[in-house]
Amino acid sequence: MKKIGILGSTGSIGTQTLEIVRNHREEIQVAALAAGSNVALLEKQIREFRPKMAALWSQEACRDLRSRVSDLDIKIVSGMEGLLEIASMDGMDALVTAVVGMIGVRPTLTAIEQGKDILLANKETLVTAGHLLMPLAREKGVAILPVDSEHSAIFQSLNGEQKSQIKKILLTASGGPFRGKKRMELTAVRAEDALKHPNWSMGKKITIDSATLVNKGLEVIEAKWLFDVEPGQIQVVVQPQSIIHSMVEYLDGSVIAQLGLPDMKLPIQYALFYPERKPMPGPSLDFYKLAQITFEQPDTDTFRGLALAYEAMEAGGTMPTVYNAANEKAVSLFLDHRISFLQIAEIIEMCMRRHTVTSNPDVNCILETEQWTYDCIRETMH
Ligand code: NDP
Ligand code: MG
Repeated sequence: MKKIGILGSTGSIGTQTLEIVRNHREEIQVAALAAGSNVALLEKQIREFRPKMAALWSQEACRDLRSRVSDLDIKIVSGMEGLLEIASMDGMDALVTAVVGMIGVRPTLTAIEQGKDILLANKETLVTAGHLLMPLAREKGVAILPVDSEHSAIFQSLNGEQKSQIKKILLTASGGPFRGKKRMELTAVRAEDALKHPNWSMGKKITIDSATLVNKGLEVIEAKWLFDVEPGQIQVVVQPQSIIHSMVEYLDGSVIAQLGLPDMKLPIQYALFYPERKPMPGPSLDFYKLAQITFEQPDTDTFRGLALAYEAMEAGGTMPTVYNAANEKAVSLFLDHRISFLQIAEIIEMCMRRHTVTSNPDVNCILETEQWTYDCIRETMH
């Protein structure tokens, strides 16, 4: 019996993870669940999956939940302390990190420190703290299993191959809802338009990231850490149908790819049961219906967010944190209708230009850099 914890259980990845667990109750047990503020859904999940511990971010929400589930034998915790308590709890083998943003940094590092395998959806953590996380995982003998569909595809395409024989990683991108548009056409884009993704149904933040191609930028940096390749070895290929989830090109010119319908349950299930494959209910890929798969080069002049990710990765140190934190703040300002769509990349660039890199930052330095970035944006907004 595998015992898992899920940080972000009420979100898009969290609920899909629980859907899979629901079909495999004899093999996977839920030890802990954590969410931000959705008390009602978390209560429902607790009643169904009976974890030993659960967390909500605010103390108030936590009190509410505690009284709602007072008939059950469960510990309810709150805040960062709560997430850290879950990350290090006894009797949990693996942690699914499905929270949004840098809030995942400390819990993920704590879980690795405690020897828990990580099923990683929360890419922002790897982008900002990959240089701490990957060596620690190696030291502790902990597996970091990618949940992100592209990285799961790369991971599967690397099965049985030698790292020294990789020529490059071909990271596919759908291009998002504004593929083919030029800057002029994007000036008046509203949050409602950007939230319509052609192929994937996801949380709000990552949906906006997909529209700006910042998501692809974060994924490029995520791939660098997960697969230990050089920035120049990662090439983004637009593949609008989202059928090829990514590919690896080897020294001899062979390209190995993983294909499937765009459904996050596939990479989540693969990570949950790795190295075993399990049947997946529902439709599978029909090549007759699909008929064609097409490819394009990404337009990095229009979607500056992708070009800036390469710059941040090359600069290293605290720069990926600035890139990520500026984006987190800018996306929330855009969702609140306080800045325009194109300003998201402009804000990221402005923060990066103003930043002086500290190399090899520790956790405190990463969190200080996050705060520096928010301050930098606040000053320029007034
Ligand atoms: P959602 O917005 O759908 O869900 C976020 C989850 O995090 C919710 O459960 C939310 O709780 C919880 N949460 C928010 N703030 C806190 C907090 N302070 N403490 C504890 N929990 C918190 O996001 P997604 O599921 O879309 O994305 C999660 C991560 O996975 C992101 O890093 C994203 O980039 C990555 N990812 C997502 C994919 C997808 O298809 N959705 C694909 C690949 C990667 P509440 O509901 O209470 O707010
Ligand atoms: Mg992805």
